[in-house]
Amino acid sequence: MAYHPKGHTTGAAEQRLAQPLRIAEIFQSRQGEGFLTGTESVFIRVSGCNLRCRFCDTPYASWEPEGPLLTVEEILRRVENFPARHIVLTGGEPMMFPQVVPLTRHLSDRGYHVTVETAGTVYRPVQCHLMSISPKLSNSTPDRELHPRWWKEHERRRHQPDVIRRLVREYPYQIKFVIDRPEDVDEVERYLRALAEIDRNRVLLMPQGTDQEALGEKMTWLEPICQQHGFRLCPRKHIEWYGPGRGK
Ligand code: SF4
Repeated sequence: MAYHPKGHTTGAAEQRLAQPLRIAEIFQSRQGEGFLTGTESVFIRVSGCNLRCRFCDTPYASWEPEGPLLTVEEILRRVENFPARHIVLTGGEPMMFPQVVPLTRHLSDRGYHVTVETAGTVYRPVQCHLMSISPKLSNSTPDRELHPRWWKEHERRRHQPDVIRRLVREYPYQIKFVIDRPEDVDEVERYLRALAEIDRNRVLLMPQGTDQEALGEKMTWLEPICQQHGFRLCPRKHIEWYGPGRGK
């Protein structure tokens, strides 16, 4: 049964069913990251993000949001075209959009296992079985000279400790940090000291990179760091399996 916060009423969410949501892509693939690595899943990629990560690997859902506007009912119909029973609601930032509340409720009611992938900057009372949180470290900030407005907005929004606390309190969760340089792990340790409610056993470190060569180089130093600090290593298996690009 999907977990959802106590006291949540569904009346208002019901009314939002009619509002369309921009969807970059819906496809079936194997989950490549985290606790459910290898699980055949239908990915629903919502277009639109409140951050602008320097290394964003889905710019068509953040920097240049694309895709048709679909109602929750249309999304549900498209999902049913695929056989997988696991859903990954991803983005972009799906939690920006109120329609994800009725969407996750309908998916859970239909018996799907629902994972929500979020940067943890916005709270919504979604119904999901796994909250997959990827808080953005200082290595994510876009170039100040090239993108002054987004540099400022990204820095202002990327760290929302109260949202993270609420998500880890209310949902089964995993926390994935993107590591670009060895010193990023020191920032992870400072982060975890400040948010002591996060269970270290649920923390995964994954290398930053969009191709196998870059990931392979980073894995050589990240693997021993994970052993030393007691973190789980999170390879990005979908890039190893399918290479970079959309719909994978
Ligand atoms: S939060 Fe995710 S989708 Fe948004 S800019 Fe960062 S990497 Fe891209």
